[in-house]
Amino acid sequence: MNPHTTESDRQTKPTHECGICGIFGHEDAAKLAYFGLYALQHRGQESAGIVSGNGECMMIHKDMGLVPEVFTESNLQRLSGHLAVGHVRYSTTGESSITNTQPFMVTHKGVPLAVAHNGNLVNTIDLRNHLEAKGSIFQTTMDSEIVVHLMARTMDMGLAKAVKESFACIRGAYSLLLMTPDTMIAVRDPNGFRPLCLGRLDNDAYVVASETCALDLINAEYIRDVAPGEVLIINKDGIESIFPWSPRQKSYCIFEQVYFARPDSDIFGTNVYATRKRMGEILAREAPIEADFVMPFPDSGNYAAIGYSQASGIPLEMGMIRNHYVGRTFIQPSQAMRDFSVRVKLNPVRQLLEDKKVIIVEDSIIRGTTGKSRVRALRDVGAKEIHMLVSCPPTVNACYYGIDFPSSTQLIAAQKTIEGIKEYMDLDSLTYLSLDGLVEATGLPEEDFCLACFNGNYPIKPDKTFRKDSLATCIR
Ligand code: SF4
Repeated sequence: MNPHTTESDRQTKPTHECGICGIFGHEDAAKLAYFGLYALQHRGQESAGIVSGNGECMMIHKDMGLVPEVFTESNLQRLSGHLAVGHVRYSTTGESSITNTQPFMVTHKGVPLAVAHNGNLVNTIDLRNHLEAKGSIFQTTMDSEIVVHLMARTMDMGLAKAVKESFACIRGAYSLLLMTPDTMIAVRDPNGFRPLCLGRLDNDAYVVASETCALDLINAEYIRDVAPGEVLIINKDGIESIFPWSPRQKSYCIFEQVYFARPDSDIFGTNVYATRKRMGEILAREAPIEADFVMPFPDSGNYAAIGYSQASGIPLEMGMIRNHYVGRTFIQPSQAMRDFSVRVKLNPVRQLLEDKKVIIVEDSIIRGTTGKSRVRALRDVGAKEIHMLVSCPPTVNACYYGIDFPSSTQLIAAQKTIEGIKEYMDLDSLTYLSLDGLVEATGLPEEDFCLACFNGNYPIKPDKTFRKDSLATCIR
C-alpha cells in the first residue's frame, strides 16, 4: 500500500476516494481525529479536513494536501471541543479542488451540520436535479453535498428520523459520519460496501473509523464493525443503534482486501495481512512454477508473495528496492530517460536478478503500463525468466461504488486476453488468482461480496435504471 500516491500511481493503480475518523467525548477530539487520519492517509491523499464541536458551535479546518501538510499545532488547537470528525479525500465524484474538500459543512436554520463521506452514490444526477428543482443551491460538485441537502429538509423531525428519511432515496456506497455541535452519527449503507468500525478510548470516548489501523494508533479498543444498514447516534446520553432500512444482501468490496485497506487492519471481520498471505498460498496451489526465487513489486505485492513463498518452499527475495523518499510529484529529466518514473521509485537489484528465473507477485494489473516498465527493468539487469502471478482475477469492469478505476477502454484485461497481456508485458508466463481462490482467501462466503469489477454482477444498478418518479415521493 502506498503511503503517497504519485501521479504515476493514479494512472496505473485504482485509487480510493476517502477515509473517515470521528471522535466523541474527548477533550483532545480534534488531535485524536488528526492521528486517526494519519493512519488512514492511504485512503486519500488529495485533501484533508477536520470539523470539531463543543456542544454549541462548530469549527472547521481543511485544505488540499496530505494530513501533515494541512494541519499544524496551532490550527489543531483552534479546533476545540469534545467531538471531531476528520476526512481524507481522493476525488471520484466531483473534481479535485478546495471547494470539494471534506468535511462539508452547512448551517441550516441556525444549526450547523457537517458530513464526511467514504463511498459513491449511484443516483446523484437524479437526486441533484430533483433537489435543484425544489430550490436547493449546490456549492460543490460532490455527491456528499446531496446528503446534507436531504438532511436539511428533514432536520425538524429530529436526527434519527432525518437520517431515516434522507437516506431512503439515496442509493450506492456510503460509510459516513454526520456531525452537529453535540452529536455524531455514523451511517453504513445496507450493502456495507465500505468498511466502518467502532472503538472506545480509555475515558469511554467513542471512535468511528474507516479501518482498525486508525484505532490502533490512538490506543482505542476495537468494539465491533458498524453493521451494514446500521446508524449509530452518539451523544451525551451514550450510543444508540438503529437499523432504519430493510436489510439487503451484503456487498463488501473485495478490493479492500486485495489492495486498498492497510494490511494491519481488520476488514469485514478478517485481517487484511492474513487474507493477502492466503491469496499467495492459494496461488501456489493454483499456479505451481519452478523458479530461483519469488519477489513482490513492493509494497502492494509483499504479503501474497510471502504466502506464495511459504506455501511453495521457493525462497522470497526483495528483487526491487523502493525509494521511500519520492514525493507525490518530481521534476522530469530534461533528456528522455527510459522508464525514469518507474526507476525513481523502484530499482532492481542486479546482483540478485542476473541470470535468474523469477516469480513476481502483483496485487492487480490495471493498465499494465507500469508493470511493463518494471518487467523491462528486470530484463535490463539480466533476469532470465519472468513469471507473473496476480493475486486477484482480471479486472474487466468499472466500479460505481467509490473506487476510481479507469474506463474499461483503459483496463488492459478488458482489452486483451491473458495471453495478449503476457505478450504486451514481455512475460514468460502470467497467471491470475481464480475468483473462487480469491473468495476462499477471505474466509467469507461469496455472496457477502461485491465482485463486480471481476464478474460484472453489480449489486446496485447505477443512475439511469432508477425511476425518477420514486424520487419525487422521497424528496420533500
Ligand atoms: S466493483 Fe470492485 S472495486 Fe468496486 S466495490 Fe465492487 S469489488 Fe469493490
